[in-house]
Amino acid sequence: MNLLIELSFKIILINMEEQEFWPDKIAKELVSKWKGKQVIVTGTSMSGEPHIGSANDVIRGHAIMLAVKKLKVPVELIWISDDMDPFRSVPADLPKELEDYLGMPASNIPDFWKCHKGFAEHFEQKFIKQLESVNVKPRVLLGIEMYRKGLYNDVMKIAIEKRKDIAKILNKFRTEPLHENWYPIDIICQQCGKITTTKILKYDQKKFEVEYICNPEEILLHRKNPVRGCGHKGKLSILNGNAKLTWRVEWPARWTFLKATCEPFGKEHAASGGSWDTAKEIVEILGWKPPYPVIYEHFLVNGEKMSKSRGNVITVPDMLKYMKPEHLRYWMFQGKLTIAKDINLSKMVTHLLDEFDKAERIFFGKETSGDKRRDNNYKRAYELSVTEPKEKILFKISYESFAEIVKILPEKNQLEFVIKKLKEFGYLEKLSKSQMKYLEERVNLVRNWIKDFQKREKLEIKTNENERTALNKLIEKVKSMNNEDELQSEIFEIAKNSGIKPVKFFKLIYKILLNSESGPKLGHYILGVGKEEIINKLEAVL
Ligand SMILES: [Zn+2]
Ligand SMILES: [Zn+2]
Repeated sequence: MNLLIELSFKIILINMEEQEFWPDKIAKELVSKWKGKQVIVTGTSMSGEPHIGSANDVIRGHAIMLAVKKLKVPVELIWISDDMDPFRSVPADLPKELEDYLGMPASNIPDFWKCHKGFAEHFEQKFIKQLESVNVKPRVLLGIEMYRKGLYNDVMKIAIEKRKDIAKILNKFRTEPLHENWYPIDIICQQCGKITTTKILKYDQKKFEVEYICNPEEILLHRKNPVRGCGHKGKLSILNGNAKLTWRVEWPARWTFLKATCEPFGKEHAASGGSWDTAKEIVEILGWKPPYPVIYEHFLVNGEKMSKSRGNVITVPDMLKYMKPEHLRYWMFQGKLTIAKDINLSKMVTHLLDEFDKAERIFFGKETSGDKRRDNNYKRAYELSVTEPKEKILFKISYESFAEIVKILPEKNQLEFVIKKLKEFGYLEKLSKSQMKYLEERVNLVRNWIKDFQKREKLEIKTNENERTALNKLIEKVKSMNNEDELQSEIFEIAKNSGIKPVKFFKLIYKILLNSESGPKLGHYILGVGKEEIINKLEAVL
């Protein structure tokens, strides 16, 4: 077995052997820790194309939400677009002209594709649609709107008032302490719109106003991108969207007014001295408690870190080309959250769909893993992935065997061909309309996978006089015969009578019909596909 498949298989087993499926375990801990409504918060910076890792926060949060719901406790899932975050570097796949906007909040950048109000909204809308495609519909909050509507106002006032206490917490993890005149907020310059260049000169505690300067000296952002301010000096209120809390204070600030009880986030925030370490202390100053942290490891792509500069970024639609939403959810819910899951589409799909089909059979009581607790975890993983139970076909055929059928599909009446094959192998009973649709979807997904990962070079077909005569005889027989087994024997006869080794003749026919050197029983295949298509293909090489 391939090492990666073996590894992910072991991870699934580890998960299945745990006491309880993780969203249920977390839901129970949440309910015992917090009274009343549970609020699960997630957030994503809007600096470019949203990838599968960002969707993961919200999809896993959704599983926790469903698990809390099952306990009959009120619960809400929130997704925040962090569109006020400063734009620090231009992703490799985006226009270079965006460099002009470095240092601005993403919400101040225009939409380069001219289809939305702005750059941030362009990606927000994409992301929200992607979440919907896997049945996730969180309450959406936009950072800029939260500030403009004054949601942050009260907590900003407290943060500034207690800035010395906050600085003390932050300084514990800093090599160089924060300046005595440090403020936990960044002002957006009224003249140039940048947020990373401004410096507060004076703060009026009564009016909540600042005097600031937009520093014209060059400073370096992430990846050493230089940015300079416009030199503007101004006076303005810090409230209602003119300023933004710095990230390490903004995170606990929003837990406070949203009354967050749980937040899933990537492990970089959880590193020692990272934003989780400081936020869980700062939140107490602001008047709330740290939410239950669900910390997870990031995904890899073919064993490598996913990054825009490597060009290996995977999105939700990339995955849905080969699997249905429930399969993607099922995959996300498997394994320990602290182990890096590898996205290797050429290999993982086969195993994932087989595991999912198994969970489905166990859910419907048609199969057991032999262990009651493990069965229960399979059932919960299935239930949380599907979200709305539909009438399903219980697939008993493995992905690889199913793919073998899809590889030999005729050009016409493909679904009928698949059903006939499945019945022949004893895999299928009578199908309802919705089951037909499900089967058709599976065929299309498998076809995409074969096309992208099992591509075969076109085989060269050469025939001599003798073989062409034999093929002509075969065409006559195909026209007149209607019994699969008799046709099968007839092909042997034609080969023998023409002095061609049957193995060689069969190979030639497979090459012509299937672009392959081997294949299914020809008599059955030829009549299953239909005479017209077969004859056309045979005649084309004569
Ligand atoms: Zn747009
Ligand atoms: Zn400026």
